[in-house]
Amino acid sequence: MRSGFVTVLGRPNVGKSTLINQIIGEKVTITSSRPNTTRHQIRGVLSRPDAQVVFVDTPGLHRPKTKLGQRLNDSALSALDDVDVLVAMVEASAAIGPGDRNVLSRALAAAAASGAPLLVVVNKTDKGGAARTAEQLVKVSAEIDAAAASHGERGRQAAALTEYFPISAKTAAGVEALLDAVVARLDEGPPYYPDEMISDQSEAEHVAELVREQLLERTRDELPHAIYCRVSEWDNMRIRVEILVERDSQKGIVIGKGGEILKAVGSAVREQLAPGTHLELVVKVEKRWQSRSEVLDRFGL
Ligand code: GDP
Ligand code: MG
Repeated sequence: MRSGFVTVLGRPNVGKSTLINQIIGEKVTITSSRPNTTRHQIRGVLSRPDAQVVFVDTPGLHRPKTKLGQRLNDSALSALDDVDVLVAMVEASAAIGPGDRNVLSRALAAAAASGAPLLVVVNKTDKGGAARTAEQLVKVSAEIDAAAASHGERGRQAAALTEYFPISAKTAAGVEALLDAVVARLDEGPPYYPDEMISDQSEAEHVAELVREQLLERTRDELPHAIYCRVSEWDNMRIRVEILVERDSQKGIVIGKGGEILKAVGSAVREQLAPGTHLELVVKVEKRWQSRSEVLDRFGL
């Protein structure tokens, strides 16, 4: 039996959460086309007869504009400590930008410092085509070599041991090979979690996230970031979720004309809950919560 922790690091929106859901085979972490969807480190647990792999989904590394953004970055970076395998993800079809370079150099630095193996994943191969993917793999390995140069012998070693995997988290192409490589690099050890457990998120946290996921798909611009959801009551089959926004004007947008957005969100979430669950959604204003430390503390962010 092998077991261990695998941190998945990458810019917002490269597909980290999609990969983890694909591997676990169930939705353990919400995904969306909006950057910075993931706000907590969420663990997705894969248990098989030969191994237990605990994937740590991190908020994407980005240039923070709010206190929340700063905390998301800190949270992602703290997931680099005490890890058995590092996975750094970039997209196949988008040019390597400063954000990706930051991710790759931090991942290489962590690998050099801890000796944990680094697997670099080029995701969304379904979008770019084989030639584009091949080109990206060459570019990414050059970035890793460049990052290694500032870490001496350990850096060179880490870069030499780094492996590259083209995948599509969406179609699952290449995911099996990646998973085999991850398992092969784990040490012998007992499982960390009971084998029926697929996530360390509580049921309530998950439901609040499902509500937020639906809202993310139905709101635009800055509004997605201004939304915070939490379960405020859970009594048997009755669940009440509070949706917090930063301004009165945002409250109207979230509710929608004649309540249509909230209704659509409610029915989409209900479909994912046990039949007969009564879900109530309430919208409240919590002024500028993303920039207020005391609110972030209260939310556990
Ligand atoms: P994260 O911010 O890195 O966790 O990214 P998400 O997993 O939330 O994915 C961001 C967006 O990219 C979502 O719209 C996903 O459906 C999409 N996506 C993720 N992986 C793939 C992939 O392999 N191919 C394509 N075409 N889209 C993907
Ligand atoms: Mg995510």
